[in-house]
Amino acid sequence: MAKKTPSSETKQTAPQASTGKAAGVPAPAAAVPSTAAAQKPTPSTAKAADASASIAKESPDKTVKTEASAAPKAAPAKKAAPAKPADKKPPAKASEKAIPASPAQSAAPAPAAVAETPQEPTAPPLPSEADFVASLQPLPIEGIDDEAAKLELLREVEAQFELFKGANEAIQEGEEPAAEPAQPEPEPTPEPEYYQAPEPEHRYEGPTMPHLYIVQITPELAPVAKVGGLADVVFGLSNELEIRGNSVEIILPKYDCLRYDHIWGLCETFNDLWVPWFGGAIHCTVFFGFVHGRKCFFIEPHSADNFFNRGSVYGFKDDVLRFAFFSRAAMEFLWKSGKNPDIIHCHDWQTALAPVFLFEIYQHLGLRHPRVCFTIHNFKHQGVTGAQVLQATGLNRPEYYYHYDRMRDNHNPQAINLMKTGVVYSNFITTVSPRHAIEAKDQGEGFGLEPTLHIHHRKFGGVVNGIDYSLWNPEIDNLIPNRYSADDLSGKYEDKRALRQRLWLADNEKPIVAFVGRLDPQKGLELIRHAIFYTLQRGGQFVLLGSSPEAQINNYFWSLKHQFNDNPDVHIEIGFNEELSHLIYAGSDLMVVPSRFEPCGLAQLIAMRYGSIPVVREVGGLADTVIDKDFSWKPLHERNGFVFRDYNEAGLESALGRAISCYYEFPADFRETIKNAMRSDYSWKNPGQDYLNIYDFIREK
Ligand code: ADP
Repeated sequence: MAKKTPSSETKQTAPQASTGKAAGVPAPAAAVPSTAAAQKPTPSTAKAADASASIAKESPDKTVKTEASAAPKAAPAKKAAPAKPADKKPPAKASEKAIPASPAQSAAPAPAAVAETPQEPTAPPLPSEADFVASLQPLPIEGIDDEAAKLELLREVEAQFELFKGANEAIQEGEEPAAEPAQPEPEPTPEPEYYQAPEPEHRYEGPTMPHLYIVQITPELAPVAKVGGLADVVFGLSNELEIRGNSVEIILPKYDCLRYDHIWGLCETFNDLWVPWFGGAIHCTVFFGFVHGRKCFFIEPHSADNFFNRGSVYGFKDDVLRFAFFSRAAMEFLWKSGKNPDIIHCHDWQTALAPVFLFEIYQHLGLRHPRVCFTIHNFKHQGVTGAQVLQATGLNRPEYYYHYDRMRDNHNPQAINLMKTGVVYSNFITTVSPRHAIEAKDQGEGFGLEPTLHIHHRKFGGVVNGIDYSLWNPEIDNLIPNRYSADDLSGKYEDKRALRQRLWLADNEKPIVAFVGRLDPQKGLELIRHAIFYTLQRGGQFVLLGSSPEAQINNYFWSLKHQFNDNPDVHIEIGFNEELSHLIYAGSDLMVVPSRFEPCGLAQLIAMRYGSIPVVREVGGLADTVIDKDFSWKPLHERNGFVFRDYNEAGLESALGRAISCYYEFPADFRETIKNAMRSDYSWKNPGQDYLNIYDFIREK
């Protein structure tokens, strides 16, 4: 609370003066009652009595004090009021302005000295009370006609006298002159008002839940170890979970082919990890580093097997053993380093043994808290293997694990199925879109795992993938020459020109149809090939970027490339080229994704973000994310692509034909569809919340 100023003191003593006025101003000394008890019990006198009482508290002799306060009332007015020269008088009070300067006033002591007494407590010693009283002269109020001015004058005089009296008494009692005149009882200081930060703008709605410690065990991570969409998912999901305040750590193998230029601060963090293997143990070093802000642990085994120094992530005969070792090493690292996450999130068959190790081994060693979420990105690859993996990893007990309810493959009783093991042992299993979850469980797309999914259907669901909008965003993308947004597409047309220049395509008005992805039979290779010919036939250009680990497929597309070598409307690029993929997404008009099956598919999500309208088969995640422009029950502004159902050339043509017609015949509609696609939200915002709900559902409570 602010300290009281002299003016506020003046106000507090005013009621006494008003009492004087009521009794007759000309004789103030007689008009003011000699004791508080003698005052008229009006509110104003009561207030005055309060003020007197509070002052009296300061003095041991109340009577003397009260009388003294009555006697010289208004006396200093003679000195104070007249002495204020009109030009120096502060103009704040209207009543002061009304006081005329008289000869008597000009003869009085300097007004400022009296007026400022309360502000300058170190003033020279005051005269005794007797001297002061003796010096009193009649009030020079004869010349003042204005009653209000007189009253104000009296108030001032009274206030000055109270100040004088208090200070003088203090001096007489041998005290130091008070720095401040006697004050009424200070009001209790209210609690200071602390700065209240505005409510944060919540990005997410939904149930509140505790922040979790999540460990991702993964064979891939974008961009350091990217083979397919799995890599993007692990990075994007981890990023989103951290944005929401969770702690996320990622464990992956230390491949020699890692993009080390994307790892910051790589250093050894655990040098004494011995991972059980074939009855012995393999010494490993664990490295720590940041991948675009994500906390990553890289496990490097030191053994003749040379598991992860082979120039690529997959494609080796012993892939099952390589990743079985990695899973065991990751769990051993968690246990040895004392980490106790709420959730361990495993991905695909490569890490499907982690929950088995947790619940069959490490739980009994004290790691009881973590729960496991297992995400299946592709049912096609399940890690079907022999009993050797049990022996290698130290699980042993084939009679126990070779059971239909545990690890035994549903079709080959001699084999162990790692993906099935993951389904059986995990607390929750997701695949990467709700549609694909149904297809896998009920429509024959589970590659033999349908019965297992039925048994465990209560802990199985689909969460559509998101894409990382900090990486895939044409407004900020440094890998494209011109940036643009849905509100201004001019940059996109510049990028189309840049793509043509880069790939030596003819500069014309044709639409560019593109394909970016793995050249895998899953992606619909026959229809991709047919799309090239059909696009040319309909007056378009075609760009293909892809590669396959299978030489036969690669060779086929190399021969196709040679076939179109001189065609100014086709370019086929065999290989993996992240940077070129950004330019293709930005510069193309249409993106074909004619997959046989597609658990989620990222290509169509990225294409939409860049305003390349997807032309897709209605399957899996493609069906969940692309809404046909012409045939849909959804509102017009949500329609973001062209969809066909049947896996054949006629099916493809039905959608691609409509798209190219729209480009030529209804450019405004085409442009509107581009904007719809760009505005569709396929960020990690919704999937991130979905995964958090799952984690919250399974975590130990
Ligand atoms: P999948 O995971 O089945 O391979 P997705 O569509 O889910 O297919 O994810 C593929 C991801 O890999 C996309 O980000 C796509 O851009 C990228 N990609 C695939 N092939 C290539 C390539 N040859 N060059 C650059 N990026 C590629």
